[in-house]
Amino acid sequence: MENSIIFHPSLSARFEDFGIPIPIIDERAQKVVSHLKRKVQAIPIEQVKPLIKDDLLKVHCDNYIDHFFSQEIERVIYDCYDLQNYSLTKELNYSSFRDHLLFQAGASDLGIKLAIENGFSFFLGGGMHHARYKKGFGFCPIHDFLAAALKNGITPQDIVVIDIDAHQGDGTADIGNKLGVQTISFHMKDGWPLNDHSLEKVHSTFDIGINSSDEEKILQKTQEVLEKVSGKFYIVVAGTDAYEKDELPGTQSLKFNLETMVSWQKLIYEEIKKRNYPQYWLNAGGYGRFSWEPTAHFLNELL
Ligand SMILES: [Zn+2]
Repeated sequence: MENSIIFHPSLSARFEDFGIPIPIIDERAQKVVSHLKRKVQAIPIEQVKPLIKDDLLKVHCDNYIDHFFSQEIERVIYDCYDLQNYSLTKELNYSSFRDHLLFQAGASDLGIKLAIENGFSFFLGGGMHHARYKKGFGFCPIHDFLAAALKNGITPQDIVVIDIDAHQGDGTADIGNKLGVQTISFHMKDGWPLNDHSLEKVHSTFDIGINSSDEEKILQKTQEVLEKVSGKFYIVVAGTDAYEKDELPGTQSLKFNLETMVSWQKLIYEEIKKRNYPQYWLNAGGYGRFSWEPTAHFLNELL
């Protein structure tokens, strides 16, 4: 179990290194690892192989991927990260940033392989669940985990994605609907896409809008929806921005306490385990000083 946690400092978002002053506290993964003490160590980084163009073509349209691999990358990144809102602290090297994204997405390739091998793996990063078929969106330029799952030959109809990030997994729904992936998204009612955005709404197989008042019912709701899906490979997008101590201003309508966050994850883990199919987890959203806590406490009970 111990070697099923994918962590390495160079797999973090590294926005600061690229001159993008996005205030995401990047040491979330590091804090999870510190909490788990000697149970988890950094993986040998050479195990991570970047995704390539052919992998992305399995989940995105040709036109978008042509842009992504051309000089147009500048426009792609600019739009996806809303760079008009930031003053870059140094000149952004767009092609290195693209390479970094492909490398980060490669951690999902490793994660899927480890899940197949060991039944369970958890990447303390990734989770680009807003990347849509035709374009990147919401800080998610490429759909890392569906691309990685398909790269490893998993049949789309066998995949179930369970997304507990506070924002709707709209990109996963968009691509999933095209491919026949079963998708469940728990998210803030009316929270995503942002109301001022022109992007059209897409629907997951099961969309479950929730707010803080659903805290007592969440385990039961989860149990009920899990009974409606059956797959042979499970992906859990375990964003922690529904946690009450998450600091993103936009998620204040959804605040679950630590105990709920941990039991919620445990219930999902146990339910998939009962079915005896592999499960790959990854981290997605989570902002501020305490966003590491739900993941750390969940993993601490598991390992
Ligand atoms: Zn989120």
